[in-house]
Amino acid sequence: MPLVPMRQILDEAAKGGYGVGAFNVNNMEQIQAIMQAANDTNSPVIIQASRGALKYSKMIYLKKLMEAAAEEFPQIPVSMHLDHGNSLETCKEAIALGFTSVMIDGSLAEDGKTPNTYEQNVEITKRVVEFAHPLGVTVEGELGVLGGIEDGHGAGLSDEEVSDHLTDPKQAEEFVQLTGLDALAVAIGTSHGAYKSGRKDPKTGEVLPPVLAMERIHQIHERMPNCHMVMHGSSSVPQELVDVINQFGGKMPGTFGIAIEQIQDGIKHGVRKINVDTDSRLAITGAIRKVFAEKPEKFDPRDYLKPARDAAYEVYVKRMNGFGQAGHATDYTGMTLDQAKAYYK
Ligand SMILES: [Zn+2]
Repeated sequence: MPLVPMRQILDEAAKGGYGVGAFNVNNMEQIQAIMQAANDTNSPVIIQASRGALKYSKMIYLKKLMEAAAEEFPQIPVSMHLDHGNSLETCKEAIALGFTSVMIDGSLAEDGKTPNTYEQNVEITKRVVEFAHPLGVTVEGELGVLGGIEDGHGAGLSDEEVSDHLTDPKQAEEFVQLTGLDALAVAIGTSHGAYKSGRKDPKTGEVLPPVLAMERIHQIHERMPNCHMVMHGSSSVPQELVDVINQFGGKMPGTFGIAIEQIQDGIKHGVRKINVDTDSRLAITGAIRKVFAEKPEKFDPRDYLKPARDAAYEVYVKRMNGFGQAGHATDYTGMTLDQAKAYYK
């Protein structure tokens, strides 16, 4: 199956009442692990690359790897999505490369750090939609600002600032109407990375789990039952993966993730795309550290990259089952971008 537009994957997910994991990649092992997991669980899937990942992999390598992924498993609907595009130019570049979906993160200015005004966000998102839809390409936008920084992208807001930048449900309705986007990334208190909470117990100094404003998702879904929502920064950061890292010489204290139950509650209320990056990073790092610690005589990269790929595979299988996308790959035939062009007309 050629790479399919993300819009179709999300529409089908809405029909089936499930969510689809969007997994960040920057190398071959991650892509292979995702595709093997999608094949074994019969899942449609979204593979995404940030600007940082494209820079690291020199773009053309990532494109060819994703094409290989689609070719190896022709029965799996897979979208190639740009994560946190910062400008129309970046989105154009990704589309020219063959991406079937782009995110324009108009919540931040082109520097990827300074929060934009609402008006600026509407303006840039609209321009990307006007460019992408005639080509059949899906567009994700973002309203509200997320916490944390990933790949150098993010406003790095404090916890108090994050709560001032949550998505306003009424404004979300207007934003979707004005821009015509396909998927809306919402800010509900999640952060990028492994440290999802800056909250500490004032008495003990102990790090506390993040507080999510799930009611915002409920309210947006009530206003717009057909709007596909996206949860960013939604790794679960399982303690057992962090423990492996720490057991073999790592130093990652006070990590927190998003509980799968909260994500599943989101899925019941219109969340269709769930972004997961950190969990695969943790699994890979832990597996590599384990080999280095237990078999210090090894020096062939395959000796640690294979266990790393296997560990990432386990994470992807769990997420695909948890989000409900498992079993749905063969519900439908993938659309081409040409067919998607007709869809937007
Ligand atoms: Zn994100």
